Amino acid sequence: MKVFLIGANGQIGQRLAGLFQQDGTHTVRAMVRKEEQKEALQAAGTEAVTANLEGSAEDIAKAAQGCDAVVFAAGSGGSTGYDKTLLIDLDGAAKAIEAAKSAGIDRFVMISALQAHNRENWNESLKPYYAAKHYADKILEASGLTYTIIRPGGLLNDPGTGMVAAAADLERGSISRDDVAQTVLASLDEPNTHGKAFDLTAGGTPIKEALKQL
Ligand code: NAP
Repeated sequence: MKVFLIGANGQIGQRLAGLFQQDGTHTVRAMVRKEEQKEALQAAGTEAVTANLEGSAEDIAKAAQGCDAVVFAAGSGGSTGYDKTLLIDLDGAAKAIEAAKSAGIDRFVMISALQAHNRENWNESLKPYYAAKHYADKILEASGLTYTIIRPGGLLNDPGTGMVAAAADLERGSISRDDVAQTVLASLDEPNTHGKAFDLTAGGTPIKEALKQL
């Protein structure tokens, strides 16, 4: 499978680009928004293109042409305002979904956020972020694409353990970015994740087994 990785310069994105290279069962085309990021990836042997989630869905579709799956690992980050939350986490995700459809790509894996589906559990100070994630996920669910929505808890830079908890509802928790990246990779190959959305935290089940039990 050739994977179009949106947000490839991010903390999970970089881990994923590395995993795709090591794993060898998939190839990757990394989408980044700066020329120097593209050049760095290319120098490391990764196919890379520039496109911007604030640009047009047509440009994103052109950049994705020929890929078999999209992974959305982008996000506006904690240091921007809610204008960027709206433009990247919601509208950027919606454009990526639109682009996948117009490029004829059926498989889509979204990195969302723990409990984005459940308004009662939205952190008071982050409500606009959760609302953006919530509606991006809803758009994907209604898109007709073969989707998997992964909703990780608070992200940590601890080394991965390969063990997680994955379920439709996990009230709280955190997880290492390594384990999120491994879960994205394993989801691509696990048909039991098709059409499913699930919370993900650190836990006691090997990743592949956890995905089979969803
Ligand atoms: P990250 O390091 O902030 O990476 C996000 C990436 O998105 C960056 O590489 C950034 O590009 C890219 N991006 C931002 N705006 C863009 C645009 N207009 N066009 C193209 N790319 C753009 O994030 P992370 O820590 O890997 O997290 C990945 C995902 O997990 C995000 O969706 C986040 O919301 C979600 N999440 C986070 C937490 C948490 O605790 N932080 C918890 C659950 C879920 P640049 O490198 O050029 O800036």
